[in-house]
Amino acid sequence: MIDGDEEDEVIIAIGDVAENENAGGLSHGFDDEDAGHDGKIGEMAREEGLIRSDVFDAQDPFRIHFKDAVNEQHGVTMRQNAPDLINIQIWHGAPGIITTVSSTQIPTLKWAEQAMPRFQKLLRAMVEVESPSDDKAAVDRFGALLADTVCGEAEVKLMPGGKWGKHVICRFGKKKRGGKQVLVLGHGDTVWPMGTLRTMPFREGEGRLWGPGVLDMKGGLCVFLFAMRAARELGLPVPDSVVLQVNSDEEVGSPSSRGLTEENARKSAAVLVLEPGTGLEGKLKTERKGVGGFRVAVTGRASHAGVDFERGASAVLEVARQIERISGWTDLRRGVTVNAGVIGGGTKSNVVAAEAWVEVDFRVRKLVDAARLERKFRALRAVDSRCGIAVTGGLNRPPMVRSAGVRRLFGMAAAAGKEFGMVVEESATGGGSDGNFTAALGVPTLDGLGCVGEGAHAVNESIVLDRVPERIALLAGMLGRLI
Ligand SMILES: [Zn+2]
Repeated sequence: MIDGDEEDEVIIAIGDVAENENAGGLSHGFDDEDAGHDGKIGEMAREEGLIRSDVFDAQDPFRIHFKDAVNEQHGVTMRQNAPDLINIQIWHGAPGIITTVSSTQIPTLKWAEQAMPRFQKLLRAMVEVESPSDDKAAVDRFGALLADTVCGEAEVKLMPGGKWGKHVICRFGKKKRGGKQVLVLGHGDTVWPMGTLRTMPFREGEGRLWGPGVLDMKGGLCVFLFAMRAARELGLPVPDSVVLQVNSDEEVGSPSSRGLTEENARKSAAVLVLEPGTGLEGKLKTERKGVGGFRVAVTGRASHAGVDFERGASAVLEVARQIERISGWTDLRRGVTVNAGVIGGGTKSNVVAAEAWVEVDFRVRKLVDAARLERKFRALRAVDSRCGIAVTGGLNRPPMVRSAGVRRLFGMAAAAGKEFGMVVEESATGGGSDGNFTAALGVPTLDGLGCVGEGAHAVNESIVLDRVPERIALLAGMLGRLI
């Protein structure tokens, strides 16, 4: 868990969102996005739209006006009954007021709002080029679309991905001597098989955009491209060199792109990752668990379950005993989970099974726990000495630890958001991303800078439209701080 200081959280929101129970918690728990397939749309309407420029005073765009009233039911300070007015909610403390927000970022926010039709058009084009990880030709078509989109804005290189699609490197600007490079990480592949568009077409509705990959993470790629366009058109500062790396194989564990990611990260002062924010709050991600997996294969001795039972050694029974043992290595307090997710074995019910296996996913907050688990798995011995055990696998993504560098980056994001009145929050997650690799190298990494929405890997995959401009402005502001 994050060592969150238990300060008051101030949430500025538009419309009557005061009832939102979720927003009240200091949600520093793990929100495991990989387990989030049950995401329901349900209560989303209340959470919409955090910041819009039309709440700002026309005479003085850097001043926000509040007529405060206290919501009796919820004990929060708010302004009521107008969808385009700002509410303030103060959690875990006495009601308070933010009166003035001075901003250099508001022009970016306005720019981003005006750019929304273009944003939607680009995102639609991206979603409609389906790109499942295991379809190389499809992912390459997506890479070509991306390369076309940024040509004229960046120098583009397509890097071979072996059996996977090509990785796309887009270099905005040239690194000068002593200048800084910032790496922005994304992925073009999705978990959705070809043809998903027939049942899940790209569409707009209920204040959202829907479709396969719209949140994870084609929307994030668009947020970045528009942040760079905003910077160029408004003359905002950006680092000498901003490198966007879009991998083709993230959803299958980044087997081909990992080396490239690490090579580019080593040359960079910071890494920004365009995965979606956590939950409908869109919290940034400052801590991710390490992810790995083992396969435990047991060989036993086959025999007739009726005639020759005693001569058999059941691999199924043995694997069951092993599952009991390894499941006991879960330690929730340390953030260690061991999940026996898939099992198989045996041939017929009247045969003592000769073979059985289990596939295990594990998550750790600390690298030392991965090493400890690895030792334990390798040391597994059969309870029935007539059985044999073979263990394969190990750690795939090391944990992204909330280091001083990560905290510093988050501080910059918080300051960038504050300039236009956005409260930026952080979260820890059990899910991994390519940011795990870069953080493990000691390169400050901040994740979750993509869109706000829900349903990644699920049929309700969608992004909240009203929240897009603030994400563009936040990323632009963040880049400006990294010069
Ligand atoms: Zn993703």
